[in-house]
Amino acid sequence: MSLFVQKFGGTSVATIPLIENVAKRVINAREQGHDVVVVVSAMGHETDRLVELAEEVDYQGLDGRREMDVLLSTGEQVTISLLAMMLMKHGVRARSFTGRQAGIVTDVEYTRARVLDIDSTRLKAELEQGVVPVVAGFQGTDEQGNITTLGRGGSDTTAVALAAVLKADECQIYTDVEGVFTTDPRVVEEARCLKRITFEEMLELASLGSKVLHSRAVEFASKYQVPLRVLSSFSDASGTLITNEDESMEQPIISGITFTRDEAKLTMLGVKDVPGIASAILGPISDANIEVDMIVQNVAADMSTDFTFTVRREDYTQAMGILENIAKSIDAREVTGDNKIAKLSMVGVGMRSHAGVASKMFRVLADESINIQMISTSEIKISVVIAEKYLELAARALHSAFDLVEEDK
Ligand code: ADP
Ligand code: ASP
Ligand code: MG
Repeated sequence: MSLFVQKFGGTSVATIPLIENVAKRVINAREQGHDVVVVVSAMGHETDRLVELAEEVDYQGLDGRREMDVLLSTGEQVTISLLAMMLMKHGVRARSFTGRQAGIVTDVEYTRARVLDIDSTRLKAELEQGVVPVVAGFQGTDEQGNITTLGRGGSDTTAVALAAVLKADECQIYTDVEGVFTTDPRVVEEARCLKRITFEEMLELASLGSKVLHSRAVEFASKYQVPLRVLSSFSDASGTLITNEDESMEQPIISGITFTRDEAKLTMLGVKDVPGIASAILGPISDANIEVDMIVQNVAADMSTDFTFTVRREDYTQAMGILENIAKSIDAREVTGDNKIAKLSMVGVGMRSHAGVASKMFRVLADESINIQMISTSEIKISVVIAEKYLELAARALHSAFDLVEEDK
């Protein structure tokens, strides 16, 4: 008998009829002889609604993030009880578990906690009794028992972490699309569902903006070798298997294109080109807990330099304020910024053995008259920063130029 962890995202549990659809899938797996642990997200856009309520209160002080997690964790608690009731209505023994009841212990980084440990004794006992445990995704408690959440999209991570400790045969992430596509199918219609993708590529795609999987979930699955599959709650297609790279696997040069609009760019103009400048600028930014992504520094002929970096869009105003203060203290000419930018990335393990991907990418963008503002590369990815208004055009043009529409063999 196999054990599956099945996770259902927000859209898949948005209404009671949809919760019934989920129950039927669980029952189906049980009828085929499998044990199932279910992980669910909050219903529909419930987490967004809770975030908006907190924004309306607008408390910025100490302990605000602790209360945020108490608030956000309520969404999943609604779904676990409703699904457990629905399963019982259909004659299946089921029981709901909050993160804490499921033994999920995290660190104390509210709103973006990491799973440290899972005591699976209780879930194992329930499984032995023939019960279907229905676990709240996205939440745990720290060692003091404070409620924590794992960051937006974190229910995927709950599912993979449970699959790892329970040694499940597969962790199945059910969502509102048929699997992992070559790019977001809601933006590029011709996007194609991949049969397989490597952990390494999926990790890049997830951390560069593709929200189909939480990047920590991919990290966990790769580290603990959890077979991971993304599939649709609304169809019977076999979805996408995320696996180790193997010799027989066809290696397309590019597997996927991903993007994020969650970006803003800041530039300090006319900075003296002397040692310590990068640290003088980025030190206070990092002290304010603002994450910096790309960094570019150029030296001009007059030995002054322009220093540009990107941050998350929500941190833009705060970063700008900090930068204006620094500019005065280091005598920089001017500070400018742009929060209408986007980052687009192409990912593929085949890039390792193929030169020329970057130049082709740049040519395709140039042909569309799209200006590249920043570039960053690593072994299996190339990212560019462009104006947000060209994002969809760029994604479509690259998707077609790199033949991602073609069926994989
Ligand atoms: P869930 O609520 O089930 O967790 P998410 O909204 O978090 O679902 O993730 C699914 C969404 O991810 C899809 O609706 C799709 O728009 C988006 N997405 C972005 N990039 C991709 C991709 N490469 N493949 C599939 N879906 C993607
Ligand atoms: N409900 C949380 C969110 O919307 C977690 C999740 O769905 O994965 O981000
Ligand atoms: Mg998600």
